[in-house]
Amino acid sequence: MAEKRNPVIKCNKCRRLMGRAEPKWTKAGDIEYYYLQCPYCKTVYVISATDTALRHDIKRFKDMTAKSQGRQPTKKEIQEAQELLRANVARNREIKAQYPLETKL
Ligand SMILES: [Zn+2]
Repeated sequence: MAEKRNPVIKCNKCRRLMGRAEPKWTKAGDIEYYYLQCPYCKTVYVISATDTALRHDIKRFKDMTAKSQGRQPTKKEIQEAQELLRANVARNREIKAQYPLETKL
């Protein structure tokens, strides 16, 4: 079994290596965040930000791709999944921009 390793990330602000940081999870209102925080300068890097609607759509995407396992998905299924994924990625970016994570640390 392949070991899943977190990449070594360099902090953009203080230029120090953050090591294999485990993403942290937090929630602010309806928005759930996964983020990394530099242990030195405390800069926060948001990996993903989701609201209820987006989390629902992410689950829908997973269900969609799981459904086609073991058989060839149809062209329509592939297209639908791709469109949903694209929409989810765009929505994630929107939420990140709209609701920047504020940590009180
Ligand atoms: Zn830093």
